[in-house]
Amino acid sequence: MKKGKKRSLSKASSRASKRKASSFGDKMTSPRSERAAAIRRSLLVVMSAVDIDWKLLRRFYEPMLLLKLLDPVRGQRVDRPTDPEHGALSSTEIRRAFVNKLAYLCDFKKGGDTSTAIALQNSPQGVVIHCAANDHVKPRVKDFIRETLELLVTVDDTNHAKVEALIFKKAISLSRNRLRTYWKRADGMIRKCSKHLQCKAPSSSFTEMIAEKSTDSGTALKLCSWLNELQRTAESMSSLVRKCYQARNSRLLRALDRLSAEGKPHCRAFQDLRHYIGRLGAHRMATKTLVAAVAGAPGFLEGFSVQVEPSSPRAYCNLLPEDTTASGIMGRMCPKDGAASYRDALKLMDSSYELNLDVALEENCAFETRVHAELLLLDLFIRNKYEFAGEDRYIGCSKPACYSCSQYFRAQITSFTLPACHNKLYLRWRPPDIFDELDLEAIQRRNDTMNNMNVRIREEIKEQLDRRTLTRHRQFDSTTGRSIAFDIETFQNHSNDEHFDFNLGTRESFVEDLEDASEQRWESSEESLEES
Ligand SMILES: [Zn+2]
Repeated sequence: MKKGKKRSLSKASSRASKRKASSFGDKMTSPRSERAAAIRRSLLVVMSAVDIDWKLLRRFYEPMLLLKLLDPVRGQRVDRPTDPEHGALSSTEIRRAFVNKLAYLCDFKKGGDTSTAIALQNSPQGVVIHCAANDHVKPRVKDFIRETLELLVTVDDTNHAKVEALIFKKAISLSRNRLRTYWKRADGMIRKCSKHLQCKAPSSSFTEMIAEKSTDSGTALKLCSWLNELQRTAESMSSLVRKCYQARNSRLLRALDRLSAEGKPHCRAFQDLRHYIGRLGAHRMATKTLVAAVAGAPGFLEGFSVQVEPSSPRAYCNLLPEDTTASGIMGRMCPKDGAASYRDALKLMDSSYELNLDVALEENCAFETRVHAELLLLDLFIRNKYEFAGEDRYIGCSKPACYSCSQYFRAQITSFTLPACHNKLYLRWRPPDIFDELDLEAIQRRNDTMNNMNVRIREEIKEQLDRRTLTRHRQFDSTTGRSIAFDIETFQNHSNDEHFDFNLGTRESFVEDLEDASEQRWESSEESLEES
């Protein structure tokens, strides 16, 4: 990673030096213009791309950095809206579920590099499946998509289970390392939680705690026994994933939910365990959903083709440390008459919460940037005026969008369906690049979007300074594997081959899970370091 940074820096500085030579040459320059040139040199340069005006860049990234330092989680997780007119079984919802789950299965590694976006384009030849990732779609992912689609187009009334099994096998094989990581963490949590669960001789107080209003006092023992069974199954990843999926609506996972509630003893460990069990089961859910979607909307993959969008080059943004101070940023952000009071408010927050802002700003004012997968596709569709399948301007993603991507969608002049959003602000982000300097319309659109976003970012800073509070949230980037809107379980007629021993999933429990789906999940410290 350090090597990459060095490369980007040297590319940027060599290009900046050339530009300086051509722009300023031997001309006499005033100290003011020299300073402007120094700032311009220090900012984002993407090779071969049309530069963003340096004033706009500085105006954009300075408040973004400040906002991140004030609170990197800008609110609660937001689920994507469901189709208001036709509900969970509409063709729109089915398509959205399809692209989300396919993108999910393509995101084969933990971390942000493999975050994947998928969108469907209508073309005269058939549907085109466009795919992008934060860091290049790997050939094996493209193969996985193609092979999966080839299997899906063969789905009929007689072969659901067979097609599901084949896709499931491919999905497990592609994401084996990711699933192993989940299991390693789940296993650690099982060991921790087992101690708390007092498996061998549960005390009456524990039984009360786990069962609460339930009359089933045996659930505690069953939970221990099931967790031990998971450990015994771990040799076979596909069996492990199946077991976690089968348990999704069980009384046992409800018990785990109750143990995870804030304020309960050891709730963090139980929350993490619940999360990783959800993640492990999600691969089974995703493969079943793909098959159910194709069966529910026959023909929508007819004549399909797959297109991979290249990822963005990395570029380095380097705000000048001597300028990037809390006072300097507030001065540029606020009109003259308002800057003093906001500076005071910021100072007060800085000392009250020991933010040490000026040091933090200096330490964080240089960073790599990249264009996130969903924006690569958004830009592709806008640039080429592609028609979305079903006229649904929706881009599916393997993870909920970050704060900046969500704001970018909101700031578009033409409306798009907003993606789900985990609301975390990542600084390693930039808007899509433009490579044609004659495309004035695209340049104007990008400027407008950044300015619109900037208005919102500044408002958020001011609102936070007015409140003078930090509201730090913690949540997982990914979902817990429980369902949102359409998925396989939306179909009443799904196969009954995967009953769970303790408690069969019921329609009622599914509805409750939907309600739970937006619940805040806490983030382990390791995961909080990841940026998508
Ligand atoms: Zn993003």
